Amino acid sequence: MIGHIPREIHHIEQLAEQYPQHVRLTLLDNITHQSQSLPLYALEIGTRDQDAPCLFFTGAVHGVERIGSQIILAFIKSLLRRIEWDQQLRESLNVVRIVTVPVVNPWGVALKQRANHHGVDLMRNAPIESDNPAYHLYAGQNLSSWLPWYRGNPDNMEQELQTLSRCILSYSKQSRTTLLLDLHSGFGTRDRLWFPYAHHRNPPSNLSQYYLLYRLFRKSYPHYELYQFEPQWHQYTTHGDFWDWMLTQHQMQSNCSFLPLTLELGSWLWVKKNPIQMLRFSQLFHPTKPHRIKRVQRRHTTLLSYLIQVLNNGVIENIHASEDAKYRDKAIKLWYR
Ligand SMILES: [Zn+2]
Repeated sequence: MIGHIPREIHHIEQLAEQYPQHVRLTLLDNITHQSQSLPLYALEIGTRDQDAPCLFFTGAVHGVERIGSQIILAFIKSLLRRIEWDQQLRESLNVVRIVTVPVVNPWGVALKQRANHHGVDLMRNAPIESDNPAYHLYAGQNLSSWLPWYRGNPDNMEQELQTLSRCILSYSKQSRTTLLLDLHSGFGTRDRLWFPYAHHRNPPSNLSQYYLLYRLFRKSYPHYELYQFEPQWHQYTTHGDFWDWMLTQHQMQSNCSFLPLTLELGSWLWVKKNPIQMLRFSQLFHPTKPHRIKRVQRRHTTLLSYLIQVLNNGVIENIHASEDAKYRDKAIKLWYR
């Protein structure tokens, strides 16, 4: 036995066992390392209707960032408990499909490392090159898997990403709108919400939709100044960003809306309150005290619920053509000058 089965994987299986009437559990793949396999699961709730709007949550793309998996699982558990009595929620879930892949990188979690078992950083591994490369290791490097941000072979993406991309493309193909939130934690004192691109500084073609997501959230929750909402390149440009690549893949298969977002939790928010975490690298990206884990989980419930309601109310697909141009202009002024 080279690694323990991550706790979060047990939690996925437990949810499926406890709520068989509401949860669909799919074994997407088995990821094998030194003759031991770990499951790559998708856990799904809500409507089965294939053209229904679809909300994706993904977590632990980086193995040390387990807090993302835990936020997803705590949120789904809370929905499953509320389904029993909350008529409004039941109606929302009759409209919206929620698909989660809480542990994208099971071996990274088991081995307590950012990369997968091949030493590949799954957020640098996609076949997409930055056109203004930052000559920093963190932009992605091909020197060695012993160094961080190793790109591996982008022409033959790692199994976890190939499986995840097939899963996302198959769900989003017919779905009229797909929102996706990928949860990470990194250095920094703010929680950031990133949209593409990471590999260059041009706006995505669906910029107006991102602007609307941002604007509605700000207007609807004015006291909620948690998130720095911005294109990812505002922070850094990288090679191999999986969501940049998924956006182009989706646009090749369908005209439906597809909006991937990355939530980067600012881990300094909890590290500075508990400096002993500095001593354990894997804990840098994960709060250790139970009350802090609960607090981090609670902080983001509003955002996750907001995304369900955006889909339930058809906000994205109902943008009028005249508004579309207006939102795009505003977005360019806000983010691209
Ligand atoms: Zn990350």
